[in-house]
Amino acid sequence: MLKGKVAVVTGSTSGIGLGVARALAAKGADIMLNGFGDAAEIEKIRTGIAAEFGVRTAYNGADLSKPVETKGLIEAATKELGKVDILVNNAGIQVVSPVQDFPDDKWELVLAINLSAAFYAIKAAVPQMKERNWGRIINIASVHGLVASVNKAAYVSAKHGLVGLTKVVALENAETGVTCNAICPGWVLTPLVQKQIDAWAERDKIDNTEAGRRLLTEKQPSKQFVTPAQLGELAVFMCSDAASQLRGTAINMDGGWYAQ
Ligand code: NAD
Repeated sequence: MLKGKVAVVTGSTSGIGLGVARALAAKGADIMLNGFGDAAEIEKIRTGIAAEFGVRTAYNGADLSKPVETKGLIEAATKELGKVDILVNNAGIQVVSPVQDFPDDKWELVLAINLSAAFYAIKAAVPQMKERNWGRIINIASVHGLVASVNKAAYVSAKHGLVGLTKVVALENAETGVTCNAICPGWVLTPLVQKQIDAWAERDKIDNTEAGRRLLTEKQPSKQFVTPAQLGELAVFMCSDAASQLRGTAINMDGGWYAQ
C-alpha cells in the first residue's frame, strides 16, 4: 500500500515513533529514522526494519530542539531516500512541575521539541508534497492536546498548539492531495511514561506495578495501556486512500480518557 513512499518519523528510536515507523515499513514505506540513543542500538533498529520489511531505511540524529537541524532532517531524507511523502511529527518530551516552579529553560525546551519542531518540519516538507500533490502529515499530539492535567503546563500547551497547527495546515492544503491530522494517545507504556510511573512509585512508596496500575486507573477507563503498534495502525490508516478526506482531525486513541 505504501510501496514507493518515503516516511520521516521523528523520535523513532523508541516508543510510539518506533511503533509507527515499523507499521509504515510493514506497508512498504521507506523510512528515515530520527531520535537519540545508543548508536549501535539505533543501527540495529535501522537494519532490522530494512531486513524485516524489505524497505530502504536511513537514520539522522537531528536534535529537533534546534530549527536548523529539523530542516536538515527533511533535507537529509530528501537527499538519501529521494523525497518526503509522509511526515510523522512524533518526537516529544515531558517535564512535570507546578506552574509557579516550572523552570523557564524546560518550558522553552518542551515548546521547542513538542511544537516548534513540527512547524519547522512541516514548513520544510510541504512544498515538495504540494508539488507531487500527495502528502500525509501526522502529528502525534496527545489526549493532553484536548484536555489538561495538573503540573503539565508546557506539555499541555504544546500539545494543544500542535492540534491547532494541524488544523491550519489541513485547511491551507485542503484543495490538494496533502492531508494533515493529529493522533491523540492516552497512556502508552514507553520510557516517557515509565519515568512518571517511577516518580509515582517513589512518592507513594509503592512498587512499580502498583504505580502503573494507579496511573492507569486515575485517567484511562479501559485500565489498559494503548500500544505503539495500535497507534502505528492508525497512522497507516491516515496514509491510506480511504483517509484522503480526513483533514484537520485530532483522533484520540486513549482507552476512553477523553470520553469522561
Ligand atoms: P519516548 O521517550 O519513548 O520517545 C521519544 C522519542 O523522541 C525518542 O526517540 C527520543 O530520542 C526522541 N527525542 C526526544 N527529544 C528529541 C530531540 N530533541 N530531537 C530528536 N528526537 C528527540 O516517548 P513516547 O512516549 O514514545 O512519546 C512519543 C510522542 O508521543 C511524544 O510526542 C509524546 O508526547 C507523545 N505521547 C506519548 C504518550 C505516552 O503515554 N507515552 C501519550 C500521548 C502522547
